[in-house]
Amino acid sequence: MNPMNSLSKTDVHIFEIRGNFFLLDVEGNKLFSLSPDAYKCAVDRINGNETDPQTFSAWRAGRKLDKIWKNIISLTPEHVEDVRQRLETPIPPLTGLWLGLAHTCNLGCTYCFANEPNYLLNKNPLMSWEMAKRAVDFLIEREPERMQFGLIFFGGEPLLQFDLIKRIVDYCCQLQEQGKKFTYAITTNGTLLTPEIYNYMVSYNFSIMLSLDGTKTIHDHNRPYLDGRPSWDNIMDNLKQLNDVARNIMARVTVQDVQVPLIEIYKTMRAAGFQDVALVEICPNSGEIPVFPEKDIPVWKEQYLNLAEYIAETEARAYDGALSSLSGYVQALRERERSFYCCSTGIRSFYVTPDGDLYPCMRLISDDRKNIMGSIFTSLDAQKVNHFVQNNIMNKSCRKCWARYLCGGMCYGDSFAVSGDIRKPISEYCKITRHKIEVAAYILKRLKESGKIRQHSDGNIFNKMAKGLRILRN
Ligand code: SF4
Ligand code: SF4
Repeated sequence: MNPMNSLSKTDVHIFEIRGNFFLLDVEGNKLFSLSPDAYKCAVDRINGNETDPQTFSAWRAGRKLDKIWKNIISLTPEHVEDVRQRLETPIPPLTGLWLGLAHTCNLGCTYCFANEPNYLLNKNPLMSWEMAKRAVDFLIEREPERMQFGLIFFGGEPLLQFDLIKRIVDYCCQLQEQGKKFTYAITTNGTLLTPEIYNYMVSYNFSIMLSLDGTKTIHDHNRPYLDGRPSWDNIMDNLKQLNDVARNIMARVTVQDVQVPLIEIYKTMRAAGFQDVALVEICPNSGEIPVFPEKDIPVWKEQYLNLAEYIAETEARAYDGALSSLSGYVQALRERERSFYCCSTGIRSFYVTPDGDLYPCMRLISDDRKNIMGSIFTSLDAQKVNHFVQNNIMNKSCRKCWARYLCGGMCYGDSFAVSGDIRKPISEYCKITRHKIEVAAYILKRLKESGKIRQHSDGNIFNKMAKGLRILRN
């Protein structure tokens, strides 16, 4: 409990969105919907001002706010230390690997980090069978007691290596005799998808993520073939031959321009048959400034809010998967989940290059090999793993941010690309993240009021591996 006026903006966040008023008790991880009078009173209180209630309802709102206020807990040094200790010992187990099967691609996307020279530094752009088998063996040797593992097939374009994928899956099936079970995921550009490949992946329960930038005009501009030909129509033709796309494929759309009509993109994705659509702001490449300059952020915020409202109004299953970042935050607010890391990479999962080097994530590959964590032929550098374990929100400036438990800290890849320091938040991205969280609070309220709230599913491996250890329940 706290004296009534000792709370700071680290402990409580008060905000308004489309005429709806909210209070987030940050440490308690509880969201409250406020009346306009209670909101005004809360704003005065957090700014250290007296409220002079002019009406009976304002006086009553103040009394109701007292009940919330007196139960809000401040973040204390003791609490920070306690959380640190729980997070940092023991070191969590390794649960999966990203396999960089092909550091080459048949598309030449304008923004792709895989086009950077450092990503292509491998002696062999295509992973060999011997290397892939060694990676799987490394995983098992590292965690001999563990029975469940995840593999994500990545590139460039991993379907350039479909025969290798089948060989890896065959090998993993043999390991089932020892009780080892594997789940699989792939991220693909969709140009090489055939019914045979798709049916194979579905039969092994792959989580499939397909990168597209609908609309057709935007996509063909951003994601042409290497020789400049457009790729949208080919991908759409491929999709038409597949059954149950909605159930089996998640679309990942990269948004790189705040002027693009997000609702139109979303409608295009739904018309193409996707139910799960992740709209992701473009990742910066090495040395780039953040994608949305400060002046464009208000435009993007309005676009995002409009889209979130559109989905809540039109989709009966809005909460299930559509606009995955939104549904993730809605889920976290509803279930009062806490994140302490941006993702579990560098601790529970690692990226294997075609040469067998281990990196925390494909986006942390650089010329100077600064972030290399070891090799599948030797081992992981324990000190570097520890560095990632310690890179939780309690050990960086995020500790003072109201969004800390919902954000979990900035993507290391974005931080590294912009600043060269994986620990450093980038203010433009923080503004985007905080806005998404506020929109999620508003959408959660709307879904509850309309009875559309449903149980969220995070069953796919992308979500599971990304979440990994980052979330601890209250
Ligand atoms: S990355 Fe930014 S928004 Fe996220 S917790 Fe840190 S300071 Fe807050
Ligand atoms: S969230 Fe960022 S650091 Fe983590 S795996 Fe994804 S790109 Fe890499």
